[in-house]
Amino acid sequence: MSIPLTDLKLQYRSIKEEIDSAIKNVVAEGDYILGKEVSIFEEELAKYIGAKFAIGVASGTDALVLALSACDIKRGNEVITTPFTFIATAEAICRVGAKPVFCDIEEDTYNIDPKKIELKITKNTKAIIPVHLYGLPCNMDDILTIAKSYKLKIIEDCAQAFGAEYRHKKVGVWGDCGCFSFFPAKTLGAFGDGGMVVTNCEEIAQKIKMLRNHGSTNKYYYSLHGFNSRLDTLQAAILRVKLRHIDNWIERRRENALYYNNLLTGKSILTPPYDLFNSNTLYKHTFNYYTIRLDSKRDFIQQYLKDKGIYSAVYYPLSLHLQDVYKDLGYRWGDFPVAEEMQNKVLSLPMFPELTHAQIENIVEVIKEALRDD
Ligand SMILES: *Cc1c(COP(=O)(O)O)cnc(C)c1O
Repeated sequence: MSIPLTDLKLQYRSIKEEIDSAIKNVVAEGDYILGKEVSIFEEELAKYIGAKFAIGVASGTDALVLALSACDIKRGNEVITTPFTFIATAEAICRVGAKPVFCDIEEDTYNIDPKKIELKITKNTKAIIPVHLYGLPCNMDDILTIAKSYKLKIIEDCAQAFGAEYRHKKVGVWGDCGCFSFFPAKTLGAFGDGGMVVTNCEEIAQKIKMLRNHGSTNKYYYSLHGFNSRLDTLQAAILRVKLRHIDNWIERRRENALYYNNLLTGKSILTPPYDLFNSNTLYKHTFNYYTIRLDSKRDFIQQYLKDKGIYSAVYYPLSLHLQDVYKDLGYRWGDFPVAEEMQNKVLSLPMFPELTHAQIENIVEVIKEALRDD
């Protein structure tokens, strides 16, 4: 029996009636663009995160672009971020005309290393985008200290970290803006694309509301160069249903991660994800991905798993500073040794709330077999 990386059909089946009726209602109302489900979902989500404002947009990528625009990041500015992230983080910086400046990551968390940020600051630096990779929050205390002393904006990329917490406070409200993605495979996923910006700043919130809707204040009167980037009413209605289940699903992800961790001990070349379930309450990981590190044989193990019908993924196989699209930025191999090392070692195993203990036992058994065989 094969085990997928994530199982969206299984989740749909578990809440089919609620979802179907939410969809039917929107269709019956014909309320498709910025309909009432969007504003209700924005309120519910703001409350869940603990933010004053939430603005629904078309995707997580657009959430970053609009947040950067609303923070007035533009041509001539530099934005510091991690090279070990999905392309959208850096792409959004370029989209507003600014320049991404990469900074290496920590070996144990795979997140941006605050100790290395200051070295990257120049007179053009305007913002930092910390990415809470896989669902694990960044070290926000240290990042905030740096941002304060250099007067930099912080835009959190929370695309993989819905519901994650740092010091018992959800990610998204630590900086000036928090950006979420509702891409189907994210912890809170829609049935298509969707995104959200959360903020405690009314001025930024107003600006994003205008930007997502062609820069208009009143219909057919425009005061900003805007975008067409609205969260669909249908997606909002689906997400409202899912938001009611999210805490339960996050708990099941964490429980599955703990189960994996306990079974995966005792292999010296294999390191489970940094979570600190017991000893450290600073971080609450929500495991959008359950990512292990294999000091050798990563590709062999991925293939071995696949041959047994178990799907895994590498997030990400080539750090952004080495991508063709950024060759004009002038980076080279060796610039970010930790990111370059981790791209060859990380492997994300199947992770979703409905994953069973028996499936996890099976996956771990196959990994141990692969390590024995070779
Ligand atoms: C998914 C993701 C995004 C982009 O979200 P989309 O909704 O796919 O546009 C941005 N940053 C990170 C880290 C992501 O994982």
